[in-house]
Amino acid sequence: MAEHTKCLIIGSGPAGYTAAIYASRAGLTPIMYQGPQPGGQLTITNDVENFPGYADGIQGPEMMQDLEKQARRFGTDVRYGMATSVDLSCSPKKIFIDGTHEIHAESVIIATGASAKWLGLPSEEKYNGRGVSACAVCDGFFFRNQEVAIVGGGDTAAEEATYLANLCSKVHMIVRRDELRASQIMQKRVTSNPKIQMHWNCQTEEILGDDNGVTSVLIKNHITNIETILPITGFFVAIGHKPNTDIFKGFLDMDEAGYLTTEKGSSRTNIEGVFASGDAQDHIYRQAVTAAGTGCMAALDAERWLTEQED
Ligand code: NDP
Repeated sequence: MAEHTKCLIIGSGPAGYTAAIYASRAGLTPIMYQGPQPGGQLTITNDVENFPGYADGIQGPEMMQDLEKQARRFGTDVRYGMATSVDLSCSPKKIFIDGTHEIHAESVIIATGASAKWLGLPSEEKYNGRGVSACAVCDGFFFRNQEVAIVGGGDTAAEEATYLANLCSKVHMIVRRDELRASQIMQKRVTSNPKIQMHWNCQTEEILGDDNGVTSVLIKNHITNIETILPITGFFVAIGHKPNTDIFKGFLDMDEAGYLTTEKGSSRTNIEGVFASGDAQDHIYRQAVTAAGTGCMAALDAERWLTEQED
């Protein structure tokens, strides 16, 4: 039998938990489904140094545990489970959890975040979990004192390269242009680290390995056409993210990349009673603090909308 709620929150990153804190304090008694990665992307990050209020920084997983505790304290019903399909054309909205449980929600706050992108090479898939990883903080430990490579030129790649350099004997950073996209401070950290070797204008051609996993990677400089084999055992991919919005296709407006469209200055989507927050709708800032801010907006917008419906 379907379960009814005033407010359903889908996703449990900084956006979802902040929405939960505001919605529960406003008396909406929200239900939250945490999704496949409870706590979201910050649970696979180490030091968070830029979230206001933590003068000495904080570990990502610890921050997410604190947020969950805070949301539960005000009465959010936090549950493990994943929204697998939706029908947003009706009122209340129908959301199916894990393909079975049906929730009827008067308002829905989407905070499904984004997931790591892959290069799309068959060898990347073949060696996934056997040397290929999209999370240096999760898997770097396995490559202590070994030679590894990381592909990407943004803040994530720079941060992960620095992290790996503390563990591994050498880190090859494969960058497709002749410059990094990362912030100045992170650029300086990687380019001045003697354990990180930059490979500019290079693309990954193939990840090579044997029965035990990755043994090397073939890269090609697309200016000189020179191919090089790097002897590595770990290959890390850090080339950005894709918003987790596939289940909303056909209902909600989104851009070409799948980021949900919201009304300017609000969290309102094109469907009444459905609000979007966090990385699922933000391809520009993508920070924990901006996600938290939009989670707050979504809860306030949902509360106001629900009040209007009662008038
Ligand atoms: P970005 O989108 O910023 O960077 C992706 C990087 O991967 C770019 O250098 C891009 O190259 C490269 N890339 C994309 N596709 C490919 C491909 N197919 N092959 C090779 N290289 C590829 O993603 P990030 O995850 O690094 O960062 C996302 C956001 O999060 C940013 O706003 C960032 O500032 C922020 N962030 C902040 C942190 C912090 O403040 N501590 C830590 C981590 C992230 P190109 O430049 O050529 O497009």
